Amino acid sequence: MSLRLRLTLLYSIILALTLIVFSGVLYLTVSRVTVAVVQTALQEQAKRLVSSGKLHLDNIEYPAHKFVPRETYVQTRYFNGTIIDKTSNLGSQALPLSERGLQMCRAGRSWTETVSTVDGRLLVYSAPIGANNQQVGILQVAQSIADYDQSLAALRRVLVIGGVVVTLAAFGIGWVLAGAALRPIDRITQTAQTIGAERDFDRRVPSTGLNDEIGRLATTFNAMLAQLQDAYRQVEQALHTQRRFAGDASHELRTPLTTIRGNLGLLQRQPPISDEDREAVLDDMVDETDRLMRLVNDLLVLARADAGRQLQSAPIALDPLFEETCRQVRALAPERQFTCAAPEGLAVLGDRDALKQVLLILLDNGLKHTPPNAAITLSAAAEGDQVAISVRDGGPGIPAAVLPHIFERFYRADPSRTGVGAGLGLSIAHALAEAQHGSIGVTSQPGQGSTFTVRLPRTTCAEDDV
Ligand code: ADP
Repeated sequence: MSLRLRLTLLYSIILALTLIVFSGVLYLTVSRVTVAVVQTALQEQAKRLVSSGKLHLDNIEYPAHKFVPRETYVQTRYFNGTIIDKTSNLGSQALPLSERGLQMCRAGRSWTETVSTVDGRLLVYSAPIGANNQQVGILQVAQSIADYDQSLAALRRVLVIGGVVVTLAAFGIGWVLAGAALRPIDRITQTAQTIGAERDFDRRVPSTGLNDEIGRLATTFNAMLAQLQDAYRQVEQALHTQRRFAGDASHELRTPLTTIRGNLGLLQRQPPISDEDREAVLDDMVDETDRLMRLVNDLLVLARADAGRQLQSAPIALDPLFEETCRQVRALAPERQFTCAAPEGLAVLGDRDALKQVLLILLDNGLKHTPPNAAITLSAAAEGDQVAISVRDGGPGIPAAVLPHIFERFYRADPSRTGVGAGLGLSIAHALAEAQHGSIGVTSQPGQGSTFTVRLPRTTCAEDDV
């Protein structure tokens, strides 16, 4: 059973029950009041009859003009129940008195009862009457309540027919209203089905703009769709990056392998190549093997970073680390101009080996991508609860169009310049900086050099690190 039908039925049943209770109470009250009104009238008439002094047990002078227009019947009885006299409008009929009524009258109390006749119901009031302080008989006054019964029957019909009509109308209106109220839910269901079928996460549920249950459901549903869309896009992007990475990696690995394979072919040649050529081929193979090893190492570092390998998080004193790194770089390029300076006592929280690798990558890039006369400076400065480590070079700078891509894997601004690297250095630096809860950024202006800045959490230096 649909929610719409359930809601409508629920409303209708509640309304029908309310109407039944209301109609029942109304009907009972009206019928009781009606009987009570006639009963009071009969009591009054009986009293007036007695007080008029014209009542003789055996000769009832019926003072019709004093009574209400409705026909009234009067009758007297002895206490043994024998009828003494009655008004002529009774004809051959007699006003009945039940055994219980007779007993009540004998006990000096009045009694009212309704009796059914062929012409409708009659309300009979019976009361003992006395003379000279003595109870002498019973006076019975009666009136037909058939008219009232008719009115009550009409009321009953109105209540039953009205109740049924109102309930049916309420069911119809409730059905329409419930349909209108639940329509947005239908639309949400349809949208969800379409999204499921078409995988179209751009779709949104039309919002009612109201802050009611359905409005909130639509907003929540749309927010969930936005998150799903985001997640879907990220997964797609990750897959795309992964595919590209695998393609680029294979491509990079293939170049040295092809060279090595070609060189092996040369070595196998008959007649053998000259000793001089052999020497050159072997040198070439050593270089290519070194390149292969570097590449595989780089890929391994990236794969580990991708797998979320935990790095150490310990205090690193920058002064000694800078000294050690610069010594290493100076040995590689003694002709280049290096400046290394870290304020004394400055320390960061991170992994010493990883940070050193980042610095070596940045300094190596400074060497590779700048002319020999360009100076390279490694410096550090405290920035709030972080430390900014900068590698500045006086090289040609990086064009604005290239800048957003330099941290991408296998990206090289000028791929034609073979031998400068596989384009993995900065992506490794980026991954290692993030793995230490830090960041890496670059500012560069063509012609004015570039500055790479690594930011890591600042800490106080442990003594044994210094
Ligand atoms: P590569 O192995 O080519 O050095 P990287 O990821 O380290 O790969 O650098 C990506 C690209 O960024 C380089 O190919 C180069 O074009 C540019 N780049 C990096 N560092 C510098 C620099 N200091 N000055 C100019 N260009 C740079």
